[in-house]
Amino acid sequence: MNVRKLLARLNPAAARYEVHHGGVPELTPQDIAGALGMIDDRLAREVFCTVWWPDGAQLNRVEVDRIVREAQLREWMRLRRELEAAKLAQHVAQDDIDGTYGTRASQRQALQRATDELETVKARQWPAVGPIYRAVRQAVLVELATPNLCPHCEGRGEIRIGERLITCQPCDGHGRVPVSDRKRALMIERDEAGYRRVWRPVYEWTLALCANALAD
Ligand SMILES: [Zn+2]
Repeated sequence: MNVRKLLARLNPAAARYEVHHGGVPELTPQDIAGALGMIDDRLAREVFCTVWWPDGAQLNRVEVDRIVREAQLREWMRLRRELEAAKLAQHVAQDDIDGTYGTRASQRQALQRATDELETVKARQWPAVGPIYRAVRQAVLVELATPNLCPHCEGRGEIRIGERLITCQPCDGHGRVPVSDRKRALMIERDEAGYRRVWRPVYEWTLALCANALAD
């Protein structure tokens, strides 16, 4: 049974679209809500409710935003620490050369490696913390709640071939197709070039965080 559809049943507005199958025991909203209490990962539960239970989510929209913000800031800090560590490593490599007049090839190689590493780490830094981070969080939840269904399998993630069900290749069984950069840029009110250059890593990281929580 699809737990997402069960959860959607908690929405009064959706209830009237429910198709009843003969012989299948019906779960009450209390049963479903009880099962949700067992999802122990707070983020998983909050994202799940926000995406699949919009009525219930009115209450926890603030909460989910707070949890995702906390995760974003933690990642931001991790990247900054990584940058500081790479700067120090490069400083040490340079200092070793200065102290010995760079006579050893291994020291020059070490400096080159440290410089390359610093460039790599710099390139994956996120922009300074500001209001766009909130826009990203909101856009990600809207994206997850919007059925961007795969046209091949119509969102089922599987295709029937004769008697067999096989995983849909175009969407890799997810049932969804990715939203374009252009649309994501629009949602956070950036132009597409700016989105790609500056915001895409933040967006994709936040999306992966919430999508994984949802999959749990
Ligand atoms: Zn598909």
